[in-house]
Amino acid sequence: MKFFILSRNDDLSNELMKSAKTYLEDFGLILDEENPAIVLSIGGDGTLLHAFHKYKHLTSSVAFVGLHTGHLGFYADWKPEEIEKLVISIAKKEFEVTEYPLLEVTINYRHGEDSSIYLALNESTVKSPDVTLVMDVELNGVHFERFRGDGLCMSTPSGSTAYNKALGGAIVHPSLEAIQLAEIASINNRVFRTVGSSLILPKHHSCLLKPVKGPDFMVTVDHLQLLHKDVQSIKYRVADEKIRFARFRTFPFWHRVHSSFIDSDLEI
Ligand code: NAD
Repeated sequence: MKFFILSRNDDLSNELMKSAKTYLEDFGLILDEENPAIVLSIGGDGTLLHAFHKYKHLTSSVAFVGLHTGHLGFYADWKPEEIEKLVISIAKKEFEVTEYPLLEVTINYRHGEDSSIYLALNESTVKSPDVTLVMDVELNGVHFERFRGDGLCMSTPSGSTAYNKALGGAIVHPSLEAIQLAEIASINNRVFRTVGSSLILPKHHSCLLKPVKGPDFMVTVDHLQLLHKDVQSIKYRVADEKIRFARFRTFPFWHRVHSSFIDSDLEI
């Protein structure tokens, strides 16, 4: 089996990467940066986000596993002291694959430029380089509201515990193929009105954002942030692709939520 390892690049992560590489090669696995079957991410959730974006063109064939060298991560749930156990499990090649939904982001431009299409593992946000973002929100082709505020955040179920949670969005179990639109500081008074709650959209529904003010927008896709000029619309939907995680043991999603946000008693 072919593997690759990504490290956060701190001393501990690099040291663990070196020993995992040695162990896996001793077990006969082949290091292959181009076309790995399994990618081990050593660091934190941010390292796994980088790993996902490096291999997002291989979603149907690559499986990810994360080891955390800081606090427990949502995607990085193995501990440094478990490295031997983890590499032995990888070498035995017997793992289940758990798939989580992804978000598809399509940005269309005004002057016939090709659209940009992205996949997000956590979320995509839209903000204005001016103070207030003003966007018309369409759901399935029908006008829903005119949003005024700091921005909008569309998250995946596994990203619902990240930025979305800080915005008061719901935590969504990743077995649900859905995406969630959360407001970032909307302006609500007698003149301007938004729904004020997060919206959870199922598969096959779409959300289109159409600029009312200004054609340029800051759009994030996970940790990546770009200024897009001359934007005509931004479309969000549940992606056809999914991320695949290699599971060698059970660590249910709600246990991870509990360990991360309530107390670490249930951490394994
Ligand atoms: P980072 O890797 O330092 O991540 C920031 C924090 O978010 C870390 O504590 C990380 O463990 C946590 N995190 C990431 N994904 C998570 C998930 N799915 N569930 C729970 N926690 C998660 O910083 P980065 O590399 O810039 O990562 C980008 C991510 O940071 C974005 O995808 C966004 O979700 C998050 N973020 C959060 C806020 C906020 O909470 N106010 C603001 C901006 C960005």
